[in-house]
Amino acid sequence: MTVNQLAKPSALTQPVYEPGKPIEDVARELGLDPDGILKLASNENPLGPSPAAIAAVRDALGEAHLYPDGGCVALRGRLAQRHGLPVNHFIVGNGSNEVLELLGHAFLGKGDEAVMGVPAFIVYKLVTLLFGAKPVEVPLVAHRHDLKALARAVTPATKIVFLPSPNNPTGTSNSAAEILEFAGNLPDHCIFAFDEAYAEFLDDPPDLTPLIKAARKIVCLRTFSKIFGLAGFRIGYGYGHPDIISVLQRVRQPFNVSSLAQTAALAALDDESFIERARETNRAGLTQLAAGCTGLGIETVPSDGNFLMARVGDGVLAFQVLQAKGVIVRPLRPYGMPEWVRITVGTAEQNARVIAELATWSQRA
Ligand SMILES: *Cc1c(COP(=O)(O)O)cnc(C)c1O
Repeated sequence: MTVNQLAKPSALTQPVYEPGKPIEDVARELGLDPDGILKLASNENPLGPSPAAIAAVRDALGEAHLYPDGGCVALRGRLAQRHGLPVNHFIVGNGSNEVLELLGHAFLGKGDEAVMGVPAFIVYKLVTLLFGAKPVEVPLVAHRHDLKALARAVTPATKIVFLPSPNNPTGTSNSAAEILEFAGNLPDHCIFAFDEAYAEFLDDPPDLTPLIKAARKIVCLRTFSKIFGLAGFRIGYGYGHPDIISVLQRVRQPFNVSSLAQTAALAALDDESFIERARETNRAGLTQLAAGCTGLGIETVPSDGNFLMARVGDGVLAFQVLQAKGVIVRPLRPYGMPEWVRITVGTAEQNARVIAELATWSQRA
């Protein structure tokens, strides 16, 4: 008997997430100096981690022989304060991706449907397939989620509706009013999973806490990977209806979040000056990248995230050509957008470098 015969059929057909390649791998493959490589492919923070988080983690290293606080009590307490909701409304995950997976564990199985936009963050589809449920994909209109069409796609079999705003990879968002109306009108038999990975980059993010307080079946997802600069630590959280949170707590591993990640997150939450600097750098960088592309005749889509989509022609070829120069962006062919790449906003200097490479690319014979 082969291993594949032993494996569950669903495991063999499960699509594989293609992450941005690590800098070291690219350097080795292309014979480049890793220090000269610029990775703008995974929406990481160009300023690095929150300095307060680094300091706190250094101080905590001596406790690394101890298991973490499995309940993330201190962090959930701090988040409860921040969002003005009770502690039992919060769950911390190994990245917000883990919270997405916990939603699948708890709510999705054969015969269930999950509604999502396309193109949107690919993990919604992966999680839905992983648990044998059916992804119902609703095309974006003008690169934005079409909330009316999403609502129409809900059936009696729908268990979860996923909505990211701002969306990845498009960078577009829906208005707060529109989202609140959508969330308030979803039928009671499905859960609204609102992905706020980029909320901290918005001036005025939608606030679903009144709906959560009104016991709507909502779970919001946040991450420390983006504005807080802690992607390598793998930590994010969900907050919402306490009964949803309680089921998610039940299906997670007892020590799903490392102690150092918890320490880093707690410190980063209070690092206001870093957050403000990251927001400012991003705002200026979006303007710089968009202007640079426009100057080259490259179409972009106005973004509310820390990344920008650019229509470069052959996205995969542009990715390869830029990568050979040591600049890594994300081709969007896997998202069904072969003419586009997604560029993470960097520092002013990094943005200038990617624009210079795009200039060379767009002038090729
Ligand atoms: C980056 C991102 C996340 C964050 O994932 P983590 O597992 O917390 O690193 C979640 N949702 C979207 C839409 C993202 O772009």
